[in-house]
Amino acid sequence: MIDGGKKITLPPFQLALVAAPWHLCNRPAIQLGSLKAYLQQEAPWIKIRNHHPYLDVAREIGTADYQRIAADMWLSEALYAGALFPELEQKALRLARRQRKKAGLTNRFEPSSVSVACQRALTAWIDSIDWSGYELIGFSVCFHQLLASLFCARRIKQLYPSAVIVFGGSSVLPDMEQCLSHQAGVDFCISGEGELPLLRLIEELSATKERRTPKKNAAKSAGQLRQLDKLALPPPDYDDFFADMRRSFPSAPFIPVLPIEFSRGCWWNKCSFCNLNLQWQGYRQKSAKQMLYEVTFLRHRHQCLDFTFTDNSLPRAASRIFFEKMRQEKGETHFFAELRVEHTTDFALFRKGGLTEAQVGIEALSASLLARMRKGVSVMDNVFAMKKAAELEIILQGNLITEFPGSTEQERDETLRVLDFVFPYTPLAAATFFLGHDSPVCNFPSRFGIASFGVHPKYRALLPQDVLREMPLLVKGYRGDRSRQRRLWQPVVRKIERWRRYHEKRNCSAKTIPLLTFRDGGDFLIIRQETESGRVLHHRLAGASRAIYLACAHPVRLDEINRCFPELTLEAIHRFLNELCSKRLVFAAEDRYLGLAVSQSAAQR
Ligand code: SF4
Repeated sequence: MIDGGKKITLPPFQLALVAAPWHLCNRPAIQLGSLKAYLQQEAPWIKIRNHHPYLDVAREIGTADYQRIAADMWLSEALYAGALFPELEQKALRLARRQRKKAGLTNRFEPSSVSVACQRALTAWIDSIDWSGYELIGFSVCFHQLLASLFCARRIKQLYPSAVIVFGGSSVLPDMEQCLSHQAGVDFCISGEGELPLLRLIEELSATKERRTPKKNAAKSAGQLRQLDKLALPPPDYDDFFADMRRSFPSAPFIPVLPIEFSRGCWWNKCSFCNLNLQWQGYRQKSAKQMLYEVTFLRHRHQCLDFTFTDNSLPRAASRIFFEKMRQEKGETHFFAELRVEHTTDFALFRKGGLTEAQVGIEALSASLLARMRKGVSVMDNVFAMKKAAELEIILQGNLITEFPGSTEQERDETLRVLDFVFPYTPLAAATFFLGHDSPVCNFPSRFGIASFGVHPKYRALLPQDVLREMPLLVKGYRGDRSRQRRLWQPVVRKIERWRRYHEKRNCSAKTIPLLTFRDGGDFLIIRQETESGRVLHHRLAGASRAIYLACAHPVRLDEINRCFPELTLEAIHRFLNELCSKRLVFAAEDRYLGLAVSQSAAQR
């Protein structure tokens, strides 16, 4: 700390940072790793220990079940609800039982015993640490970590009443502090980016020594702080995670996936259903050079080859430079990233640079639905993204949002029709629409046919009435056309389920080539098409037919094709392409055509 030009050496300040269940157990928490690295760089007098008690819980209940639970918001939160609010225990367990099938768990999974095991593991972890040695204990509260974090904070306060606790993270909203203070003795809340407010809080606590005086909200001062310099962030510090992993899994250590952050915020930031960035609307990104340095540093330090970008969507220009450099390295480093459909033209480069898996923001296969969701892409763009991922063997994860408020029969029927064409590609997951707090749909409900909104009914099984009154929560319940939407989208849900089952069954067999491929014979090509019934069809296209099909490798307009084949009439090309559309070898939308078959040699490379 600098005061009046003089450097002052401060006594060490002991800080604990905690990521509670249900953080995914095969990876460290980047929130903790980034905070530790930043604070150590800015203020070496802060001594930080990051804690990962989710590893203790994963060991107790098994990593496979743990990961399934972690993916389900309601099930995961329900397992700590009864311990916090005994009057709700039975309701919470009933909710957990209803959710277990959706989470992929069988009836052998009994929430009452798992809940006891989860509580036992966290209690043992809390009791194993002397919390009096810390001057501040911080919880990073993101997806599905609210109740487990409250469970920990409450017990720490019971055992160490003078402990000072701060909550931050994406699930901590500005108006929560009073309730968190009341429920678990939480002293401070940080909402939004954590680095600078946490540093400021520690400096204040250190300087004033008034560590027992609860403040209203440390985040209030964050708005006045200068923007965090993107270059000031060192690589996340994951050393404590690896120490905790060795302790929790001494005999069977797994090789973790390491989270990395290229950008913060969303460069699109317009989707009408999204509330991912409600606390902070800004955007910043690192340079490709910095990202490369981080990957190299973390790979060597921890001997891991799998990385997951935490970005909402990778920055466009910088990620091209990054993957080009990774391609030149010819290493075997693998990446997962969330991408927007606009990245499709970069998929080939990304794949060569190590991107093996991507969550692509598909969300809808109806033009008017995409417009209402403000996705900024077309149905053709979505289908092309799915085709390119299949061709390049990028494992595509994509959602199809069902029951979007105000959806019409026409939109549902258009979705069903397009699903027939994307059948050869990796199935999407049906994701029921939820109303996100402060999302554009929530802020302008009447535009989307929502009559009113309030507490989501499932929260009533997790939190008592007084908490529900006080605490803003990320997911809302609403009234509108919900029952109609549920009925309307049933055929889509069933179709997606059949699609998923077909691919799952097929992936277990020796057949590994994609369902729709072609082989080029120079002046003819043969298309191999495996249909939903399992029947295999072959189509031979020769001469101009072959050339037109190859010209449709990317979405292309009829007049553009015609320019390449002036000897053919527009009507003849149109007729030919329509015939291929009827066989589902070509997809047509917005006056553009796309050949759906992927080159067999490209797919097998
Ligand atoms: S859904 Fe994704 S792309 Fe759309 S605004 Fe949210 S973060 Fe951005």
